[in-house]
Amino acid sequence: MNKNSSNIMALAPNTSNKRETVCIFGTGDFGRALGHKMIQSGYSVVYGSRSTQISNLIPKDAEVLSHAEAAQKADVIIIAIQRQHYNFLTPLAEILHGKVLVDISNNLKLNQYPESNAEYLAQLLPGSRVVKAFNTVSAWALQSGTLDASRQVFVCGDDVDAKQMVMNIVRAVGLTPLDKGTLLAAQEIENYPLQLFPMWKFPIFLSLGLTTFFFFYCLALDVIYTYIYEKNNFSFFIAITIPNQVCPAMALILLALVYLPGIFAAIIQLYRGTKYRRFPDWLDKWMLCRKQLGLIALAFASLHVVFSLVTPMRAFSKWRTSKGIISQALNNKTEPLDHTDAWMSDSYLALGILGFFLFVLLGITSLPSVSNSVNWREFRFVQSKLGYLALIFCTAHTLVYGGKWFLSPSAYKWYLPNIYMLSLVIPCAVLVVKFVLIFPCIDKPLTQIRQGWERNPKHSE
Ligand code: NAP
Repeated sequence: MNKNSSNIMALAPNTSNKRETVCIFGTGDFGRALGHKMIQSGYSVVYGSRSTQISNLIPKDAEVLSHAEAAQKADVIIIAIQRQHYNFLTPLAEILHGKVLVDISNNLKLNQYPESNAEYLAQLLPGSRVVKAFNTVSAWALQSGTLDASRQVFVCGDDVDAKQMVMNIVRAVGLTPLDKGTLLAAQEIENYPLQLFPMWKFPIFLSLGLTTFFFFYCLALDVIYTYIYEKNNFSFFIAITIPNQVCPAMALILLALVYLPGIFAAIIQLYRGTKYRRFPDWLDKWMLCRKQLGLIALAFASLHVVFSLVTPMRAFSKWRTSKGIISQALNNKTEPLDHTDAWMSDSYLALGILGFFLFVLLGITSLPSVSNSVNWREFRFVQSKLGYLALIFCTAHTLVYGGKWFLSPSAYKWYLPNIYMLSLVIPCAVLVVKFVLIFPCIDKPLTQIRQGWERNPKHSE
């Protein structure tokens, strides 16, 4: 062989895709989906099943044998069977001795059993090397190839070599293994797929509660009150007018609630004179769901934009405009343009547009693909500085629109303030306290505390 060809050999990648044989116990949904993916990745797959009959659902190139025969053909055995059937493995203990058993099982409830399924399997077969993996991947995602959002596979086990072998399989099928340590982590890994939007629960319940409250509040003041005292039937307000009052109120309040926990945190740190003590649990949880609160606020703001854009198309708006024109024609005089009114309406629209633009910018930067491409300082600049600017614009937008009602007695139907006034309470409070917090005499000690300075250090030299 000449020198050139040996160089080419050295540079050429290993083109052989053939890998070792892996055994899968169970020909159910997950076993078939994983087997199919593994065959595509170059593994030979042998199934261990109660029935050795080949059905057309089983991947074409796979073999189906009894459990004992299949186990003898591979070092790694994936147990694609529910935990309640694990007892059938005990008679196979001798054959499974020293083999790597991959537990992929999930439960139906959080902490269903005192020990994790993987630990239970290890107790049943103490001679085998148990590794937990694949339980957060669904059979459907494996089959359809839609794994982009869940590429990560948590892996844990007490035997380092066994864990390494399983991580190699994970990589080979195009997923990313994440080592979570020993089998002690199995319970936590088994609980992951059972969590239902943990970060979204509080924001969703809060939004549903507040939306329902504001909806009935507006219904009482704008429809029921008007019907009782003015004999006007405005029940059609339920379709657009009321939602278009509730949505901006919700957007503004939720945006303020994104920044309120930061204010509480600052006050607590200033009071304690240290950042080295944990915040109360409720504050920790609130801080962790700020992104979700912000995204729901953005959804309400977008709905407000759409509702506002369709307003001129409404029969009620057309009727009101034509009523104004006809009354001017009947009186034979054109009302002059009210410049204060024109200024007010243009400024509130401009503030709304700017506020919404910043709101969208905040939403975009919270997407993982965008936030991963900016550094921490840039992210903080957008989320904190531009976020406060968005809050200022949106609050000013509401103040210019609804501020006039503060002094008008007719706005207090049944002595209650209208929704615009209510929606301004939290945002104004947040902005006022934030304004106080940026005074140098307060901002300086707060910055020092956040850099690690303590008023009464516990561990002084
Ligand atoms: P499945 O469709 O019900 O399949 C389970 C398989 O277990 C059966 O096809 C059967 O295979 C075997 N089996 C049933 N009863 C048995 C018994 N008494 N003794 C021995 N083997 C028995 O369930 P699956 O959806 O594939 O789930 C299997 C495991 O994967 C579960 O632990 C589940 O939590 C986990 N998992 C599933 C998914 C998913 O998306 N489906 C995702 C992550 C994890 P044979 O007929 O070939 O013997």
